[in-house]
Amino acid sequence: MSSPTGIVHLVGAGPGDLGLVTFRAKELISQADVLVYDYLVHPELVKWCRAECEVVYVGKKAGCHTVPQDEIEVLLVSHAQAGKKVVRLKGGDPYIFGRGGEEARALAKAGIAFEVVPGVTAAIAAGAYAGIPLTYRNQSTALVLLTGHEDPKKPEAQVDWRSYGALKNTTLAIYMGMGRLEFILAELQAGGLSAETPAAVVQWASLGRQRSVTGTVSTLAGLVAQSGLSAPAIIFVGEVVRDHESIDWFEHLPLFGRRVAITRTRDQNSELRDKLETLGAEVLELPLIHISKAVDRQGFVEILTELGGYDWIVFTSANGVRFFFEDFLKGFRDIRALGMLRFACVGKATALEIERYHIKVECMPDTSTGSSLADALIATESLDSAKVIVVTGNLNRDVLVRKLEAAGAIVDSLLLYKTEKTDLTSDPVADDFRVKGADAILFASSSAVQSFSEQSAALALSPEAKLPLIGSIGPQTSETMKKVGMAIAFESKKPSLDSLIAGLIKNLKKASGS
Ligand code: SAH
Repeated sequence: MSSPTGIVHLVGAGPGDLGLVTFRAKELISQADVLVYDYLVHPELVKWCRAECEVVYVGKKAGCHTVPQDEIEVLLVSHAQAGKKVVRLKGGDPYIFGRGGEEARALAKAGIAFEVVPGVTAAIAAGAYAGIPLTYRNQSTALVLLTGHEDPKKPEAQVDWRSYGALKNTTLAIYMGMGRLEFILAELQAGGLSAETPAAVVQWASLGRQRSVTGTVSTLAGLVAQSGLSAPAIIFVGEVVRDHESIDWFEHLPLFGRRVAITRTRDQNSELRDKLETLGAEVLELPLIHISKAVDRQGFVEILTELGGYDWIVFTSANGVRFFFEDFLKGFRDIRALGMLRFACVGKATALEIERYHIKVECMPDTSTGSSLADALIATESLDSAKVIVVTGNLNRDVLVRKLEAAGAIVDSLLLYKTEKTDLTSDPVADDFRVKGADAILFASSSAVQSFSEQSAALALSPEAKLPLIGSIGPQTSETMKKVGMAIAFESKKPSLDSLIAGLIKNLKKASGS
């Protein structure tokens, strides 16, 4: 018997670019009890789920199936039967070469409630991001989506490529065809397709690492072999490929084709990542540190029971806010238990996290440092004998606490999390960085420089790797870089992400002599 509450959502995750994920998909991920996901799903999406969510990777890479399809179906059914809200995330659209149909049938058969959320399929994204309109008035009046990956044991299911070669005014979009590109193109020609018909391959569509090659059905296989492009890619065949250069907006973005490494620190990084990706860059986020919840239980209980007696609560990181509210709401279930407690925080990212609870931040410094936060609080002239909670991690916040105490405040530190170094030896992004290097690496804070330098052995580049230009957000960060012996290529004119990125674009151009 299935539980009345268990449900499976078969959700399309889109082609890669996070901006192409639907609202519904994001909402469901953030509510899931169990998240089951695939190889082509952007790893960032997995971070949208709740801390309690069970995350299961069932991805497959071409040729090597990690988890067999029938086992995936059993997994979905059993979790739903246990009353769980299951999100089954699939690259692109679940019903386009994604075996979503098989999963839906298995769920229907088992009597499990399910929902299907469409996603932007790879061909649609590849067309949009490579200047290939999939249909065109009077030129291409049909679009055919095909798979090049056929089961050799089932001759009746083989694609009759020659019949597609005979179609007129049609765009062909072929998934999973890279392993047999030459054969497919030859068969299309044998079916009557002109050797001059334009054709293209678009790899990693919509992502910073997108690459494309264009030619004709007679030249494409050779060009692709030369360029080294491989799966995942879409092969396009049809007249619509012809003028792709003129409307190829994505591959002309200022950072397209550039690999830019950024370092993850206590401060959240997603804004920098978003900005770089919007300009076409492939972003490598090096996870230098890992933050985990580590609550001083006794301290927390003592503070919560006395909450009414405090004047200020001070946060120095968004994580602190998240961990505080998680446990606070478990204890109280009502935000009004905070009474008239006033909120102070170190910077914008932390403030955003507080404002999610519809709480006003009354004090925030212009510069995001513990010391400036203390100065801003002192300037409110409310600290004399005031009781203040400072939420902290294991890295000490001595300056902040000392300054507040010197101004007459009675400070209680509340330890909620710890910051630890990540083991980079088995991290895939760090590995990619070591092997291929990057065009640039950006540092937006001294703490990022510090943690990078502490782990420099684990990030040592291989001899073939590209040596990155090193960029700094401002004098303070540069100072730390000099101390640890980094060769700074450029420093941002103003201490803002936009200015840092402007410096990056300028210096990359200069370095490549254009
Ligand atoms: N359900 C997916 C397709 C899964 S089959 C969808 O709707 O897109 C896997 C194939 O999809 C890959 O071999 C490749 O042909 C294509 N593909 C998926 N993501 C891609 C991307 N970002 N760029 C190019 N091709 C992609």
